[in-house]
Amino acid sequence: MTPEPSTPVVDVTFIGAGPSGLFGAFYAGLRELSVRIIDVLPLAGGQLTALYPDKTIYDVPGHPAILAKDLVANLLQQTKKYNPTLLLGERAATLTRVPLPGGAADESCWRIETDKGIYLTRAVILTAGIGAFEPMRLANDSIPPFEGKGVAYIASDFESFKGKRVLVVGGGDSAVDWALALEKVARHVTLIHRREGFRAHDSSVNALQASKVDVRLFHEIRRLEGQGRLERAVIFDNRTQAETTLEIEEAVLALGFKADLGPIREWGIETAGRRYVKVNNRMETNLPGVYAAGDITAQEGVDALNLIVVGFGQVTVAVNYAYARIKPGGKVFPGHSSERK
Ligand SMILES: Cc1cc2nc3c(=O)[nH]c(=O)nc-3n(C[C@H](O)[C@H](O)[C@H](O)COP(=O)(O)OP(=O)(O)OC[C@H]3O[C@@H](n4cnc5c(N)ncnc54)[C@H](O)[C@@H]3O)c2cc1C
Repeated sequence: MTPEPSTPVVDVTFIGAGPSGLFGAFYAGLRELSVRIIDVLPLAGGQLTALYPDKTIYDVPGHPAILAKDLVANLLQQTKKYNPTLLLGERAATLTRVPLPGGAADESCWRIETDKGIYLTRAVILTAGIGAFEPMRLANDSIPPFEGKGVAYIASDFESFKGKRVLVVGGGDSAVDWALALEKVARHVTLIHRREGFRAHDSSVNALQASKVDVRLFHEIRRLEGQGRLERAVIFDNRTQAETTLEIEEAVLALGFKADLGPIREWGIETAGRRYVKVNNRMETNLPGVYAAGDITAQEGVDALNLIVVGFGQVTVAVNYAYARIKPGGKVFPGHSSERK
């Protein structure tokens, strides 16, 4: 039997902590709604964090130019003002309508089950973008036993690599940027890439060549080894098959991410094609109290405009309509934030 939720019923739950979910969470806090955010990734920021943290964005109002990772940091700072519950590393798997605990006989709420817990909420705002991000994995049986025990797919807390020997795998921007950042704190960094050319900015590749990172092209992982925790990697030159053993404590596999709407397609929400959830002009889906905003949405008669600023606007609409639904007599228009005390 499924255990019953121990956490309180919140007003709004955002599924997805990309820019739309983060800004929406702030905005819901501004409207004095209680908020929970769920994201499968271990870090907030959605596509900005997973796909292009070091790219400059030019079309966010008020920021003539801003790095994606800096925009995420600003959004998090703004969002945290109202102390939302941020649940990272959890994938929302099911959505079902259930009676509201302690409510009248006709009152109900939504129950979200993730791979880690069960949560109740009055309204849901889907800010799930292009779906739940999963890291691309190598087809190599020796790797999974070390996930979380030396193997990571995102390098985030650089200080945790201090003084360690690190292997970075990959040839894109993330691999190159992480190798360069880790070189500053780690004892030694080796970067292996299976081809000759990098898919990274020229300036980053030039910085890599000028750095102390031990770069080995045409190299791949043969196997990882260790007693419980990662201790070494056997790598090989894919031109000659010659093997080399590296003593390492950490490996960062920067191989990119794939996204999949996955379970959301099974929640009874009307979709448009494989990628989108249908919404009306209030950002409502066909399920009562379930809204959507950002890259996941398809609005009738409007072409998909998958832009950060569009998500900000849509999630503001969604939150204000969710507010009016949740709070009896609540107005959709919130007034101006500048007039608040
Ligand atoms: C390389 C690149 C450059 C770009 N440059 C720009 C630019 O310059 N300007 C601009 O405006 N836009 C740009 N974009 C587009 C922009 O990044 C997107 O429009 C924006 O990220 C959409 O935000 P979102 O919050 O709607 O979704 P996302 O950023 O996709 O975030 C959705 C989040 O939901 C999570 N999620 C999904 N399903 C689940 C689930 N079942 N359970 C838990 N979590 C889930 C995902 O893990 C993800 O973190 C760029 C995109 C790319 C790929």
